Amino acid sequence: MEIAHRPGGLLAAKIQLKHLSVATTEGYANRPGGAQAKFLAEIGEEEQKRNLTLTLQAFHDYQNGNWPAGPGARELLTFFRSVEDELGELHVTTPVIKHSDQEVITLLGRRAGALHLGVANYCWFLDPDKALCLKLAKAKDRSRPLAGMCDSARCPQATHHPCHRPVWASSAANSRIFIGKIGRGQKTERARLQAQADRAETIVAAIDTAQTADHGGDRGPDH
Ligand code: SF4
Repeated sequence: MEIAHRPGGLLAAKIQLKHLSVATTEGYANRPGGAQAKFLAEIGEEEQKRNLTLTLQAFHDYQNGNWPAGPGARELLTFFRSVEDELGELHVTTPVIKHSDQEVITLLGRRAGALHLGVANYCWFLDPDKALCLKLAKAKDRSRPLAGMCDSARCPQATHHPCHRPVWASSAANSRIFIGKIGRGQKTERARLQAQADRAETIVAAIDTAQTADHGGDRGPDH
């Protein structure tokens, strides 16, 4: 079930399952309601648990002043504040009322159900109309995001968290290395890499700022 805890977990599982179907009998992999269906159901359950764990972690991070970054951060912070309100915490400076994780998880449940893991971002797929990937792809199937078309720097449903920092930092560093290697005549490629590096560095800076900024006791947007 470790597969379900990776970005694109179900997809990874399907790829893995394809491999398994080669290694096992044909009937095992193809029989409806058989082992394959059970396996995928288990993967789905594991993904739900993973999503709840990650959403709970993001909520606790918020409470500790480690905020999300990215275009969807403001909306996520507003949501977290509403959860705090529902939990009856009137102000962060008051002594923390200990709520069980289960109580908080119940409030975070729907949001966790919308979470999709990108390699470099969280995707909170709550509204297909806001999904930049679906717009770019002019997709007819609007039931799920298109990770391959994700532009998390611009999509209002994307957030960046510290776990995504290494990906962006590495992307920026690699782009800078390539810029140093290509000839001066390759202006178009140089400009493309420059834009890529700038974008990645901007995201890294935003992640760092969201972790280190003095939020001044602020609980988030609208406060
Ligand atoms: S663009 Fe990215 S963050 Fe936005 S909906 Fe698509 S996959 Fe999710």
